[in-house]
Amino acid sequence: KVYRTHSQHNTKVRVGDVVFGEEPVYIFGPCAVEDEQQMDTVANVMSQKGLKIIRGGAYKPRTSPYDFQGLGVRGLEILKSVGEKYNLATISEVVDASQVEVAANYLDMFQVGARNMQNFQLLKAIGRTNKPVLLKRGLSATVDEFLHAAEYILNEGNPNVVLCERGIRTYERATRNTLDISSVPIIKRLSHLPIIVDITHSTGRKDIMQEIAKASIAVGSHGLMCEVHPNPPIALSDKNQQLNIDEFKSLYDVIC
Ligand code: PEP
Ligand code: MN
Repeated sequence: KVYRTHSQHNTKVRVGDVVFGEEPVYIFGPCAVEDEQQMDTVANVMSQKGLKIIRGGAYKPRTSPYDFQGLGVRGLEILKSVGEKYNLATISEVVDASQVEVAANYLDMFQVGARNMQNFQLLKAIGRTNKPVLLKRGLSATVDEFLHAAEYILNEGNPNVVLCERGIRTYERATRNTLDISSVPIIKRLSHLPIIVDITHSTGRKDIMQEIAKASIAVGSHGLMCEVHPNPPIALSDKNQQLNIDEFKSLYDVIC
């Protein structure tokens, strides 16, 4: 069960060389896998910094069907190859139950994105594997709905769930979403599962990311997710919010 029962130990989720639920885990990487060189550049810098896990979307849930949808299996191949080259575990989003079996061959951790938090067939399919999964909070999901979505995965037998607060939709437009920072300590009280904060999609603002990163760790987040791209102005998705390499390095120096 996702909800804590009496005197239950906190769950730890191991992915390659990192363990969610102990020291903070930092997941960096581009919004989308675009090509080999883009991924190699980011992975190289990340491994120099001693990071152990990289992200990159191969199936992108975009608002418009005319926007870049991701490279699909080719994207997973590129992610896996840089992961092997630089000894980084890999995480990427799957958007449909039919992708789970194939994607499992390329990934160390699945990601379920905000738009699919209640895609119950997807949750069940992942629940039938034993692979770790990062489950992101839905755009308009309450804490209780979020935890019940995780329950679908646990209920099928997969205990390796990490939660991710990524902001919710409110009337406020100063940030892309409204980071519900209080959900972190609340969820830690309600559940034994690790929880991290996505500081990129919650804010959509590079200028406040260092402060938000620090705040997230201060409230007890088990880690952070943050997008990094070698050349954000030409990124095929989320060009305004991805950090460039220098911005990544200064964030790293502040938090890691
Ligand atoms: C992502 O992390 O690539 C993403 C699309 O985020 P979210 O599902 O939180 O919007
Ligand atoms: Mn993105």
